[in-house]
Amino acid sequence: MKRLVLLGAGHAHLVALREFARQRLPDTELIVVTPSPWQYYSGMIPGWVAGYYTLDQCRVPVAPTVRAAGGSLVLDRAVELVAANREVVLASGTRLTYDLLSIDVGSMSEGLTVGGAGLSTGVFGVKPMDELARQWLAAGPRLAAADKPTVTVLGGGAGGVELALAIAGEGRRVVLVAGAKGIVPGFGRRFRRRVGCALMKRDVGVVDEYAELVRDGIRVASGRQYPSDVVLIATGGVALPFLRDSGLAVDDDGFVLVDACHQSQSTPNVFAVGDACSRVDRRLDRSGVHAVRAGPVLARNLASALAGQPLKPFYPRRFSLYLLATGDRAAIGSYGPVTFSGSWVWKWKDRIDRGFVEGFPKQ
Ligand SMILES: Cc1cc2nc3c(=O)[nH]c(=O)nc-3n(C[C@H](O)[C@H](O)[C@H](O)COP(=O)(O)OP(=O)(O)OC[C@H]3O[C@@H](n4cnc5c(N)ncnc54)[C@H](O)[C@@H]3O)c2cc1C
Repeated sequence: MKRLVLLGAGHAHLVALREFARQRLPDTELIVVTPSPWQYYSGMIPGWVAGYYTLDQCRVPVAPTVRAAGGSLVLDRAVELVAANREVVLASGTRLTYDLLSIDVGSMSEGLTVGGAGLSTGVFGVKPMDELARQWLAAGPRLAAADKPTVTVLGGGAGGVELALAIAGEGRRVVLVAGAKGIVPGFGRRFRRRVGCALMKRDVGVVDEYAELVRDGIRVASGRQYPSDVVLIATGGVALPFLRDSGLAVDDDGFVLVDACHQSQSTPNVFAVGDACSRVDRRLDRSGVHAVRAGPVLARNLASALAGQPLKPFYPRRFSLYLLATGDRAAIGSYGPVTFSGSWVWKWKDRIDRGFVEGFPKQ
């Protein structure tokens, strides 16, 4: 019997596990290692912040999905990977060996240096998402006690924008520090214009400058300071540190280098998917959409690798559908060159998002 270890219960692994539930892996011991009993669905977290969803509506309990796939769940965190020994070291000290390993551990918010002694603001990152949820709940009393509660969001990508729009309202002042590239830089002009209008309508101040943390908030490049009760760091994810020292080939930023089949470029018995990897054959945006779509291909490839059969590449679709909630039960959508917005887009997004989470067993 061979042992397959899935590291992380990220979007792609959840989908792969659902495939294994439909078609069990023969002669395989399946182990899933993840620190959290829930996998948070990032598409809905801004909706939770806006008050549209409960936390349970935005997260998938991991255990039932693992059980349905015939696997066992280890609630622990990988802290070291020794690819040469086919071994993962967990925070508890357990050393777990494997025949085949798949990595879907996502990324984490980058830490920013603090230019003052002692932080007086609640500063936290958007990743990992269970930590975001915990910290946002903990920040509630601070915001409620403030005269004019101010939240600064660092990072003008889709995640940062959605969170800023979700937080705005209820007397809160929200500043979005987007950096020199401005808001949603990877998107087309029309989409960006609509997002700009939504931010204006929700009274979110946008600063197209880089910023650093200071004692009671942030300071932007031109010197202006923004005192803040809460600073949310949404400036893009960095690779988990243990990947760089694993002996696997990684890119300059420490993400695992994989080919089109999501097999490690250096180590054939390791696969990586989602935000944790970098494709050598093409640039693939780090998004939940790609992670979810890669799931079924990953499942097939892991089964093929166990059986010694040929692998299949994952080709993302030419265009991806991106739906960005504007915090007022409306959303803006983009599909290739086409852009659209309105409350119908929000209803559509809501249906897709709920459908994803409800597509996994609850117990
Ligand atoms: C606010 C926000 C909104 C977003 N909205 C969208 C959206 O609408 N659409 C979209 O396409 N993308 C969106 N994204 C991007 C999306 O969240 C990521 O691209 C997506 O989560 C990547 O999925 P993943 O499977 O790679 O990793 P993740 O979903 O981050 O999952 C990582 C998994 O690994 C586990 N893990 C972490 N560390 C370890 C460890 N050391 N050992 C073992 N397990 C570990 C975690 O518990 C988790 O189960 C958003 C991001 C943010 C911040």
